[in-house]
Amino acid sequence: MIYSMLYLISRIKKEREIIILTYHSVGSNNAFYTVHPREFIKQMDYLRKNYHIVTLDEIVKFIHKKIDLPKKTVAITFDDGYLDNYINAYPYFKKYKIPAMIFITTGYLQKRVLLYNIPLKTLSWNEIKEISRNNINIGAHTITHPDLQKIDLVKANIEILKSKEEIEKKIGRQVNYFAYPFGRYRQEIIDIIKSIGFKAAFTSERGLIRQGDDLFRINRVTIDSSITFLMFKARLTKAIEWYAKIEYILKNIINKLSFLSKINRIYHDIDLINRL
Ligand SMILES: [Zn+2]
Repeated sequence: MIYSMLYLISRIKKEREIIILTYHSVGSNNAFYTVHPREFIKQMDYLRKNYHIVTLDEIVKFIHKKIDLPKKTVAITFDDGYLDNYINAYPYFKKYKIPAMIFITTGYLQKRVLLYNIPLKTLSWNEIKEISRNNINIGAHTITHPDLQKIDLVKANIEILKSKEEIEKKIGRQVNYFAYPFGRYRQEIIDIIKSIGFKAAFTSERGLIRQGDDLFRINRVTIDSSITFLMFKARLTKAIEWYAKIEYILKNIINKLSFLSKINRIYHDIDLINRL
């Protein structure tokens, strides 16, 4: 409901809307972060018809003010490296020659990993080599997907450096971009990422992309199984920023209220807000 209203308002304001989307699994499993292939194709068809789809290189050049981008521009990324990206998403990208980025957790490869308690198969190096030759860029996402806000810095350095080096060795290309596992980072981690030679790093903080943004804290908007088609369209607009602000204010109010009275209904409302 709130999303619908914000979306309508965002349609009146005609300012530039450049955004990066994050997907995880594309399949028929029940993990929260999984998008069903039918829904995924519907979303991609909408982007292809209404948006200019670009690479992260173009986004970075735009942030650097080296190029301009059309008013409605999107870049598409995937995190972790699930096999279903190859089966359910890659053929679409190949068919329509659309660029995308997959941030690979190198220690996950050729295994089954748990996404919200659902075991999912991951990509093999052969598949990664193939897609990297066909318009899909490969980025680093550490070796074991640790929380980079908590890990010690020596271990963090190994996680970040070795994942970059391994991908470069396997695909024979330089890896310039990094995505923070769980979207979590701290200043010391940003320093490591810069010193290792990454050109930019991507968070899970929701918002549009603007010229002059911090290249090591680039916003991305996650699409998960709870997103209806209307919410998907809204998430591509400035409505995402207004919504994040409203959510932040509501959470603060509810947190304060919960100190006074632990009413279950309020927690239920927080749940509903989180689901949006
Ligand atoms: Zn991840």
